[in-house]
Amino acid sequence: MSAASIERAIPRAELERAGVLTSGPAVTANQVLNAWSILLPLAGSLWILVDWPRTAPTATTGAVFAVFFVLQVIGIGIGLHRYFTHRAFETTRWLHAVLGVLGSAAFQGPIDRWVADHRRHHRYTDGPLDPHSPHWMNGERPGSRWLGLVNAHMTWLFVCPLTDPDRYAADVRRDPISSWCCRHYAALCAASVAAPAAVGLAMGGPHEAMLCFFWAGCLRVSLLHQITWSINSIGHSFGRQVPDCPDESRDIGIFSLLLFGEGYHSYHHAHPNVAINEPTHLDLGGFILRGLRRLGWVWNLR
Ligand SMILES: [Zn+2]
Ligand SMILES: [Zn+2]
Repeated sequence: MSAASIERAIPRAELERAGVLTSGPAVTANQVLNAWSILLPLAGSLWILVDWPRTAPTATTGAVFAVFFVLQVIGIGIGLHRYFTHRAFETTRWLHAVLGVLGSAAFQGPIDRWVADHRRHHRYTDGPLDPHSPHWMNGERPGSRWLGLVNAHMTWLFVCPLTDPDRYAADVRRDPISSWCCRHYAALCAASVAAPAAVGLAMGGPHEAMLCFFWAGCLRVSLLHQITWSINSIGHSFGRQVPDCPDESRDIGIFSLLLFGEGYHSYHHAHPNVAINEPTHLDLGGFILRGLRRLGWVWNLR
């Protein structure tokens, strides 16, 4: 399941052609970054159970959680996915910066690495060079379907090779705003859990600040990790396929509801660069983009 096992399964020349780096300090650094991005918010989420009932949420906690959940879904779906990866629309510099900050604050890696992995996923979908397919595991067909699902869901992040960002995300690295967000990824993650705590402090004092830190900070991040990863695992295994879908991707309504349309993954794989998914009624991301277009803040929706 490691980067080394990919090296055994796929010839080195083919890996080089595909822009997949399997060893070296950059690969290790990427795995370490993924590990803390997952484990720190998870530890905070589990602390809610350890310290219960002191961590029982109030109505204020719920409201702050909802606001930050929505902001993070926008950062992942509209920011990292539709804008930075697929360039499905154009926008103003200030909204570009807002989407960069919200996307980075999702604890899902710096923008260039997220974009590089996702573009490789589209180029090699459900084949041995896909970074996270439940049907292939690090270049080798998994012996167990369930092991493949677990690998596509999260374990690939701990052992994965590095998708070369210079090959796959040169546009992100060239852009000064996006590259600033990449360089300040750790600070933006810290701000992502500190901001709800600051709102909680202003609204209800120190105890509410603590509640908002754990619920609207740590738990919100960990929940959205699970929901986003479910698109890679469940969203390539179970659900409905659109007729022209070229691979194993699936549409799943519940994930579309939770991720503002991103669960229409089979439609997305059939039409990867469009800004608005179909069916449109659960594509809240597309609805938001149409509203932003009316305001003149986004244009050229593909
Ligand atoms: Zn996919
Ligand atoms: Zn995509």
